[in-house]
Amino acid sequence: MSLIVQKFGGTSVADTDHIRKVARRVVDTLEAGHRVAVVVSAMSGETNRLVALAREVGGEQPDPREHDVLVSTGEQKTIALLAMAIQGLGHPARSFLGSQIGMRTDTAHTRARIHSIDPRPILDVIETGGVPVIAGFQGIDEAGNITTLGRGGSDTSAVAIAVAIEADDCEIYTDVDGVFTTDPNLVPAARKLAGISYDEMIEMASLGAKVLQIRAVRFAMRYGVPLHVRSSFKPDEGTRVGREEEVMERLVVSGVTYNRDEAKIRMRGIKDLPGIAAKVFTPLSDAGIVVDMIIQNLSQDGTTDLTFTVPRDDYRRAVALAEEVGGELGATAVDRDEGIAKVSIVGLGMKDHAGVASRMFRVLADEGINIQLISTSEIKVSVVIEEKYTELAVRALHAEFLEEGATESTREA
Ligand code: ADP
Ligand code: ASP
Ligand code: MG
Repeated sequence: MSLIVQKFGGTSVADTDHIRKVARRVVDTLEAGHRVAVVVSAMSGETNRLVALAREVGGEQPDPREHDVLVSTGEQKTIALLAMAIQGLGHPARSFLGSQIGMRTDTAHTRARIHSIDPRPILDVIETGGVPVIAGFQGIDEAGNITTLGRGGSDTSAVAIAVAIEADDCEIYTDVDGVFTTDPNLVPAARKLAGISYDEMIEMASLGAKVLQIRAVRFAMRYGVPLHVRSSFKPDEGTRVGREEEVMERLVVSGVTYNRDEAKIRMRGIKDLPGIAAKVFTPLSDAGIVVDMIIQNLSQDGTTDLTFTVPRDDYRRAVALAEEVGGELGATAVDRDEGIAKVSIVGLGMKDHAGVASRMFRVLADEGINIQLISTSEIKVSVVIEEKYTELAVRALHAEFLEEGATESTREA
């Protein structure tokens, strides 16, 4: 008999029929002799609708406290409906908001971090044979304000709850069969991975594979929580996310990802003096804007170009700040480009295989795709390209590194 956390994403609870199916699945687990705590997201599309409403009234940057009060309501609906559906199948169930399980976070509205959880209310329900149904994505800060954990945050709620109640397993139910070699909705040839290491999954999540929120994977790695990503609609095994030695496959490249949520800013002709990078990037970090890739060109006649990428949501503010410091640093122009995408290949095996990056560049060149920026780490290579080539680039890289014929040279001996 195991204690299992089951998290259901938005598409899994998209309407009342789906909610009944989820209830059936929970009850089947219960009737197989396990104990279950359930975490749910809002119905698919609901959080987007709430975010749009907030912008309609509150402008581009709505008041963060009120934003969180609003967008957290999506999950309140699904916990009540799912609890009712489980009760309808003859089992006691009780819904909980984040505040009702003491889901304490910091005060960083819209991207709060979890500090602690009170496991007692959850365990009390489980110990009396019932099912706690908990709202993901939300918490409260020390002052009792409602906070939210960032898009996709229900995954992190599920992992944190698994840690707090010392669950044996954390299952993430979603609309695809597991973690794939690339987004299966973009590339039909994508293959489901049986297992993937925490490190690779962290890279894939941070580079755009939104199947798991990056913080959820970091949290799981820190506390050694095994994750099982699987389909809400099929009984099959999904993908295990765990320690490197516990995952079965070891590929040189295990995934291709893309991210269309960034934009590029280029400051031209700025004076090349010590301290310019600090002058440019300090106001951005003070404004809470996360800069991703940065390239500084070789200096010519004492001036240089500085190019960097920021999240598209922060783009307008970032351009305004760049123009302000650009003026002080004598910039001749501040160019902007929203039409970019970042495409990456990820794999632990890249650590001991030379030539993977150059193979990637050749594949893109053969497709006539120009590379604008490059960044590498031990287990990934990312490039920024024109957005309209995203699908072509992802498909070509997937074919090169992960499809039949390519596996010979990319699979570990
Ligand atoms: P949920 O609502 O269940 O949390 P998400 O939409 O957050 O689901 O995440 C699932 C989606 O992630 C899939 O529908 C798929 O399009 C996308 N995705 C992107 N990359 C991958 C990948 N490598 N493997 C699986 N899914 C991926
Ligand atoms: N409902 C939230 C979102 O859409 C949280 C989640 O789905 O994990 O981002
Ligand atoms: Mg999600």
